[in-house]
Parts: sequence; C-alpha cells; structure tokens
Amino acid sequence: MDQSVALYIVPTPIGNLGDMSPRAIDVLSQVALIACEDTRHSGKLLSHFGISTKTIALHDHNERARAQWIVDQLAAGQSIALISDAGTPLISDPGYHLVSHVRQSGFKVIPLPGPCAAITALSASGLPSDRFSFEGFLPSKEKARADKLLELKEDPRTLIFYESPHRIEHSLTTMAQVLGDDRQVVMAREVTKTFETFLSGPVAEVLATVSSDLNQQKGEIVLMVHGHRAAEDDEAIPTVAINTLKLLCEELPLKKAAAIAAQIHGLKKNALYKFGLESDL
Ligand code: SAM
Repeated sequence: MDQSVALYIVPTPIGNLGDMSPRAIDVLSQVALIACEDTRHSGKLLSHFGISTKTIALHDHNERARAQWIVDQLAAGQSIALISDAGTPLISDPGYHLVSHVRQSGFKVIPLPGPCAAITALSASGLPSDRFSFEGFLPSKEKARADKLLELKEDPRTLIFYESPHRIEHSLTTMAQVLGDDRQVVMAREVTKTFETFLSGPVAEVLATVSSDLNQQKGEIVLMVHGHRAAEDDEAIPTVAINTLKLLCEELPLKKAAAIAAQIHGLKKNALYKFGLESDL
C-alpha cells in the first residue's frame, strides 16, 4: 500500500467474491479505519478475507456529519478506506460529500479500480460503448419516470439504469410507451452470480419475457437502452417508406433500393441507405 495518509476508495465484489482484488484486501487490512455503508453487511465480507480493521458507519444520513470527523482522523495521520455494500462507492452509493470534503481539506483521495455493475454489464451488452450515460435509478413514480425518459428520448448515447426487481416491469412498460416498442434494450441480471442472465431485444419483447417469467423479476438488474438513432425516428423515415425499402430490398441491392424508395417518398437516399445498413436489410 502507498504509505502516504489518504482516503482510499475501495470497490468490493458485486456478487462473486473472486472479484475482490489483492490490492483491495491489502489496503483494507492496512488502513486504520474502514467507513462502510452498513457495518454488519460489510463485516461478513471483511471476515471472509480475514480483515480485522475497525469499521465505522457512513451512509446517506450521516455522511455530511462524518466527513469532518474523517478529515480530523486524516489530519492525525490515520488512513481511511471507504467501501459500500457492493461495487464502487459513490456510484449510486454514498461517498460524494466525503470525497469532496476530503479533497477540499487538502488530503489525498486514492481510488482503486474494481467491480461496478454498470460498467461490467455494459461491457457484455453488445450496445455501443463509445459514448454512454449512467442515469442511476429511474424515479419510482410513473409520471416522474415518464418525464425522465422523455428528457432522454433523443439522447444518442447508450443509457444505463440501475433497477430494482419489483419495478422492472413498470420501467420497461414506461420505456415502451415513451421510447417506442422497438427501442433496443439489454437487461443484465445477477451479473457475476450463479443466475447471470442477459436479455436483449426490442423493449416490447423484453417486457413480454419479463412479464411472463417471474424469475426475470428477481435479483439485481442493470437496464441498458440503445441511444436514439436518427434513422429510427418515425418522423424522419415514415413506416410506409420503410416498408417500400424492405420490399425493394427483396429484389434489389440496398443502394439501389434506397435510391428508389427515396424518390418515391421524397426522402434522402442516404438516410434510407443508412437505415437499411443498420437494420440489416
Ligand atoms: N455501487 C454499486 C456499483 O458500483 O455497481 C451500485 C450500488 S446500487 C445501490 C445497487 C444497484 O446496482 C442494484 O439495485 C442493481 O441495479 C445494480 N447491481 C448491483 N449488483 C448487481 C449485479 N450483480 N447484477 C446486476 N445489477 C447489479
């Protein structure tokens, strides 16, 4: 471990204990104190790895009050580690106020890389990963959820949400209503665990699968949504033009079919050609 006094941000496994890194064990064993979201929950993980460092609670309700106390410990030469119940602290978990206060007070904050459900799920989703937006949990109230999705509807980046199993059906339903039945989604469930499942397809199809199989409504879930594609915009390419393009593609190469469909419907041939490529026509 780096010998300087610091607050260490330490990710912990999101389901598979084999994902605990040797460096994480090293840091957690050597700091003076570990700040945990829930000391009882983390106690089990720490004892599994033979870590006997003293723990203190740091959660949403006491984080601001605790922050100055932690700075006082750092000033007294004690290094501290922050962990959450699972995954990377601060990612839909407490820690932001603490890190901000520690930095403003002039102390080092040293992050360790490690498990994070959003990044782990995205890496295997098959959705574009060059640009994405992590959105945390959607609001639980229907109207607020629909408003949030409306705000994101035209975002071209892949969207990543955390979702609870008892709200997954509601969220998929609202997504189908607001983003359209055909928007591609990937639902990653129980990542790194025994029942790890990836469901992907148009949101209406994934919703049908989830509604008809209660097992899909259990465990922990990351829901990812393909970003908005201009070529999928109903206003940009009307369904009638898509149908013409599909028919023509049965007889002609895509380039020619796109040019004719564009002429018939007064559209840009490049937009139809791009749509054809993306839809594998
Ligand atoms: N800080 C954590 C991280 O780095 O991923 C996330 C904490 S957030 C309170 C918990 C949410 O993360 C769960 O409700 C679920 O949406 C997602 N999550 C955590 N573990 C997961 C897993 N193994 N598979 C799928 N989603 C998971």
